[in-house]
Amino acid sequence: MSTPLTRLSEEESLFQLSVRRFAREQIAPRAREMDAKAAMDPALLRQLFELGLTAIEIPEEFGGQGGTFFQSILAVEEIAVADPGVAVLVDVQNTLVVSAIRDYGNSQQQRQFLSALAKDTIGAYALSEANSGSDAFALATRAVPEGADYLITGRKLWISNAAEAGLFLIFATINPEAGHRGITCFVVERETPGLAVGRKEDKLGIRCSSTCEVVLDNCRVPAANILGEPGKGYKVAIETLNGGRIAIGAQLVGLADGALHHAIGYARQRRQFGKTIAEFQGIQFQLAEMAMHVESARLMVYNAARLRDAGLPYVKEAAMAKLHSSLIAEDVASQAVEIFGGIGFTKECPVEKLYRDAKIGRIYEGTSNMQRLTIAKELLS
Ligand SMILES: Cc1cc2nc3c(=O)[nH]c(=O)nc-3n(C[C@H](O)[C@H](O)[C@H](O)COP(=O)(O)OP(=O)(O)OC[C@H]3O[C@@H](n4cnc5c(N)ncnc54)[C@H](O)[C@@H]3O)c2cc1C
Repeated sequence: MSTPLTRLSEEESLFQLSVRRFAREQIAPRAREMDAKAAMDPALLRQLFELGLTAIEIPEEFGGQGGTFFQSILAVEEIAVADPGVAVLVDVQNTLVVSAIRDYGNSQQQRQFLSALAKDTIGAYALSEANSGSDAFALATRAVPEGADYLITGRKLWISNAAEAGLFLIFATINPEAGHRGITCFVVERETPGLAVGRKEDKLGIRCSSTCEVVLDNCRVPAANILGEPGKGYKVAIETLNGGRIAIGAQLVGLADGALHHAIGYARQRRQFGKTIAEFQGIQFQLAEMAMHVESARLMVYNAARLRDAGLPYVKEAAMAKLHSSLIAEDVASQAVEIFGGIGFTKECPVEKLYRDAKIGRIYEGTSNMQRLTIAKELLS
């Protein structure tokens, strides 16, 4: 008999509960201050490593949890309820950096880099540049061979985790004339001469997650650090981003669920006209619709993740899950602000932050229009 989509296995359930407890007890109380300071608490980072939340899908032989993609999704969702900025750090680490090295790395690269990522190293994924965002494969960063090395030169923009990262996946072209077939993925360690983390963006939301420029100036990287084959980096990018966007969907589901539950709590205690506002049908209907939206997005995210774990086609479902989750997260967070009334518009209120955090969902890991293009391509092919 097939099981309902949201029915978790015992292992998944225990994992979800432990991440939920950690998010409530350790992340939520720090969220406001990290937002104000626009910085991740280093003590929290250490806790993420201790709990294995930076190594969910890393095989146990390399010090990881040996978990599934679905578990990464559960973790990102639960963390986003408390702080979507922390969730994106966990998302990039697990569903972009770890999965690329695990799926495309040779045994030496897996041993070296996955062990570091499991132990104490944050990873960053550097594809975007100033003139290549949606059109990512128009990137201009060059990698020129020299002996057994490559010299990489270029400027990467908008790189999440860059401030904390010890390891970067850098996408560069080894042959600009070859278009996307020149793109190559390099693993570059932070201390490599020629790599510098530049300006940090001052953002609207997910402020504790660092977003920086990464500058490469004749950065010498051994050819042995190429992930997959030279000229096949576009495959690494496409594959990882297809999965990564399901995790962004999970981040947005968690965010929306957090906003909904803050709104429910407040509606139960706020009194107007001699009653709690939760007693007004107008508010009840609003909450009901918000809950329906969260549920619809969660089902789409879980379905895409389960398809991926089962090795079944999931690209259209992933794009739909990310697109839908980004739409509902913004709407649910906005309604939550309204349910709080005036206080909802202030920094005292957790939903003010969630409303700001929601906006990024429609932009990164493929804008909403890019998701629509992917869905339409699948429909019309
Ligand atoms: C906080 C943050 C974190 C990020 N983290 C990372 C990261 O870790 N690594 C990384 O590599 N990148 C990262 N990015 C970059 C992000 O993925 C890009 O910003 C995104 O892909 C959009 O690219 P762009 O900003 O150049 O916008 P553009 O591509 O210039 O898009 C501008 C507008 O035009 C629309 N558009 C573009 N092309 C089309 C088209 N063909 N049809 C219809 N509409 C179109 C877009 O939908 C958008 O509305 C991050 C960005 C932010 C803001």
